[in-house]
Amino acid sequence: MSGNAMVVPGERLATEEEFVPGDNTYVEEGVIFASAMGSVVSEGGKISISQAGRSIKIIGRDMMVIGKVTESAKSVLFVEIDSINMQGKDYLALKDGKILAKPPRSGGPRFGGRDRGDAPREAREETPTRPCILGDTIIGRVQFNDKDSYQLTLDRPETGVISGRCSLCGGELSCNEERTALICVDCGHVNKRKISSLYNKSEEIKRLFA
Ligand SMILES: [Zn+2]
Repeated sequence: MSGNAMVVPGERLATEEEFVPGDNTYVEEGVIFASAMGSVVSEGGKISISQAGRSIKIIGRDMMVIGKVTESAKSVLFVEIDSINMQGKDYLALKDGKILAKPPRSGGPRFGGRDRGDAPREAREETPTRPCILGDTIIGRVQFNDKDSYQLTLDRPETGVISGRCSLCGGELSCNEERTALICVDCGHVNKRKISSLYNKSEEIKRLFA
């Protein structure tokens, strides 16, 4: 790769046989990758990424992120996280997020963090087993920054689904007043999800990430 080229995180730069990895790079199986956005600098056998004049940050623990559920497996939902711009800084999502579909059985908080101990039995059974489904756009909080993914939790009022489609017919959904269910405008199906307090409030969502 020639010098001064702009790269994005995850872009392949060279092999360890060609260069020594420098600033803002990482090595996987002998290949050097960029860990930050910037321009490639190679001198004295060393390759690094210069971020001069740019303010780039990496998404980290406890941050709120926004993304789309792209894959739904038995016990985990995969979320493609958008890069976001906050306070003039670009935060880059280097990895996908994942949400564990089943919360801890006892003790731990439910998706909403609400205590349902005194709720009638029927209400308790209505708690969705999955907080969101394939295709939903969600806000999540980064709970753990794992090696290959961000583990997301939906434990805050503003976390959860911010837009989605009916699981039966793909129709548009409108939120009920209690914000406990999303009703399909077309077929009337009641979609149980963990709904964000910012559902359909695009201006407030923008403010959260501004
Ligand atoms: Zn429907």
